Amino acid sequence: MNLVSTVIGYPYIGENREWKRCVESFWNKKIAEEQFTAEMKSIRLNNLKHQQALGLDLLTVGDFTFYDRMLDVAAMFGLVPNRYNWTGDEVDLATYYTMARGGNEAVACEMTKWFNTNYHYIVPEYEGKQPQLTKNYILDYFIEAKEELGVIAKPTIIGPFTFVQLAKGYDGKSKNSFLVKLLPLYVQVFQELLEAGAEWIQVEEPALCLSLNEEEIKLVQEAYTYLASELPKAKLMLQTYFEALSAYKELTQLPVAGFGLDFVHGAEENILSIRKYGFPQDKVLGIGLINGRDIWKADLVEKAAATQSLLLLSGVKEAWIQSSCSLQHVPVTTKSEKELDVTLNAALSFADEKIEELTQVTAYCVGAGTSNKNSLKKSKQAIEALAQHKTRNNTNVKQLEATVKAAHFSRPLSFKERQSLQQTALNLPDFPTTTIGSFPQSDQVKRTRTAWRKKEITDAAYAEFVKNETARWIEIQEDIGLDVLVTGEFERTDMVEYFGEKLSGIAFTKFAWVVSYGSRCVKPPIIYGDVEWTSPMTVKEIVEAQELTEKYVKGMLTGPITILNWSFVRDDISREQVANQLALALREEIQALEDAGIAIIQVDEPALREGLPLRKEKWNEYLRWAVNAFKLATSSVQNETQVHTHMCYCEFNDFIDTIRALDADVISIETSRSHGELIHSLKQNSYELGIGLGVYDIHSPRVPSVAEMENILNDSLEVISKEQFWVNPDCGLKTRREEETVKSLKNMVAATQKLREQL
Ligand code: GLN
Ligand code: ZN
Repeated sequence: MNLVSTVIGYPYIGENREWKRCVESFWNKKIAEEQFTAEMKSIRLNNLKHQQALGLDLLTVGDFTFYDRMLDVAAMFGLVPNRYNWTGDEVDLATYYTMARGGNEAVACEMTKWFNTNYHYIVPEYEGKQPQLTKNYILDYFIEAKEELGVIAKPTIIGPFTFVQLAKGYDGKSKNSFLVKLLPLYVQVFQELLEAGAEWIQVEEPALCLSLNEEEIKLVQEAYTYLASELPKAKLMLQTYFEALSAYKELTQLPVAGFGLDFVHGAEENILSIRKYGFPQDKVLGIGLINGRDIWKADLVEKAAATQSLLLLSGVKEAWIQSSCSLQHVPVTTKSEKELDVTLNAALSFADEKIEELTQVTAYCVGAGTSNKNSLKKSKQAIEALAQHKTRNNTNVKQLEATVKAAHFSRPLSFKERQSLQQTALNLPDFPTTTIGSFPQSDQVKRTRTAWRKKEITDAAYAEFVKNETARWIEIQEDIGLDVLVTGEFERTDMVEYFGEKLSGIAFTKFAWVVSYGSRCVKPPIIYGDVEWTSPMTVKEIVEAQELTEKYVKGMLTGPITILNWSFVRDDISREQVANQLALALREEIQALEDAGIAIIQVDEPALREGLPLRKEKWNEYLRWAVNAFKLATSSVQNETQVHTHMCYCEFNDFIDTIRALDADVISIETSRSHGELIHSLKQNSYELGIGLGVYDIHSPRVPSVAEMENILNDSLEVISKEQFWVNPDCGLKTRREEETVKSLKNMVAATQKLREQL
């Protein structure tokens, strides 16, 4: 029996986010291209050396990126949309980053969520032209590891089916020909890797875990049959993750050398399939054993037992003991965390610790002396100690949970009835303008917060600073002419972290960063105990702001499902129960805001959709409790209080029913990057609640013109009535600069003014 420990991918950002700093220095022209690429190389090699030192048997290359791995493949195949005016053999960094971030001449490529994670990838655009191999960057990474570290690594690449499935710009017919055009390029990439000495190539095909129809299954079969016929010697590890492999019976017949299956998120179904159909005896089984999506220590005794029974069940001669998916979704190491609750810290496992778990289980299963049952048992002690923690046994929360009744899940009046009451109470103009919540976090804002965190300035001095910055922006907003104002969220680094720090039962780390998109990293809170609201979280700041203006200042909270989906969540109770605990806590905050006289309250749920299971048949169950949690949080307000919500990066075609079910009086949503798709789906489905379609993309520094936004507004008028029409940007403005923000919003207000005059 040959057992090999490996991971599907490792976080590229580095222990101290050196990757982010490097990329941003290049963008800000602080370092030149040569220095930039040299530093990126050293980060890449360090990550490999580090994994090697942790004892991993098989290292992976190609999990590194300069921005996003889908974009890497698109650039590698010359899939650069025409609007970037790219010509040449290689995609230069300037073009690459313009595709990612937009530029003066051309808007960025669309960005959307990577399956059910909080990572966003750049959506490849197919414009019909012939793809070409520009530069086999994976080959470079492979050779670099071989030459500098003497390692024969396993190159990894996003597979052709997943790549095409996630791209856009084709219809039913051209999808096939798009794939067919790409396959010879994949062959070329693989061929070059083989010639350079690669043994295994990991082909990531998470899209094979989605619900697949017959046509798609056929497409996959044809693709892999073609690859095998062109590359009879290649050993491809067909890697799936996030769910069980769909169409197991058919797809395990594919002519590849191994299948990597997720035994964390798709365990039950994958095991059932092996039991029913067997596992091809000549192939390697990749056992996705250690959860790449959570941060909890695994019970290694149980994991070792699971491995052994899988080996028996499958009857394979070789298996890889690996993470369930790339470790890019977890932080680098728990070792940096010095101030966490010790019981909690002892039960945590980040990327490095997960690699140790993998090597331990592997050593134990091959019977190597270094790992015995007693050392495996240590993990369980840590897990049990956490179960006894007082935060997991909070009687206040238990009592509150017991009071929940069916009536708490809906507002007493219908939307139409509330709408007229709110119109009278609020008296807003037609086409009210507003923003999504945050305003630019200037260097000064960030510096002051850091100083406060380091205790270099007092609480009072920090509060004073936030107060002044908020006041300054209230004035700016009045000057711009916005109708519904916001505080600007200057007291918050991150919309989830902020609440994570205030609620009990939630821990926050100092260094546990994961990438959200591009160079943007987030530090997800850790929901490890019962969630309890102990005191107001947002009231002071908004009351101070409201006192400065006659206009309404909108309260701003992060919704229960977004807090849940953007956190690392305890796994000893159901996600539904955690969501309801969060909802009950937010309900108290909303009550406190109302008591303080706040009339409009926004509860953001940008992450609602990303929690959707990969399989459609599992959607309803998730949506049932997710929608309920939002309603539990928001339904107890007065009829006159206007509840807003916000979502971004959604595909709305199949989501309008869910949005309506939330019963929020107003929703603001991202649309500018989804090019009118939402308008199209609104044509098909009527939607009567208040709605603001984002009129410009906030992920780009570009200032949109008045005319441009007028066009979007006019398009929207086709599907949205005057009574429900709101005007807002796509998302929060925290990552933008003040100058471009003010200009953009002035243009937005001017465009709205034109619309008002026209009607
Ligand atoms: N209110 C948040 C903000 O404006 C919403 C952010 C988001 O949707 N991701 O920053
Ligand atoms: Zn948003």
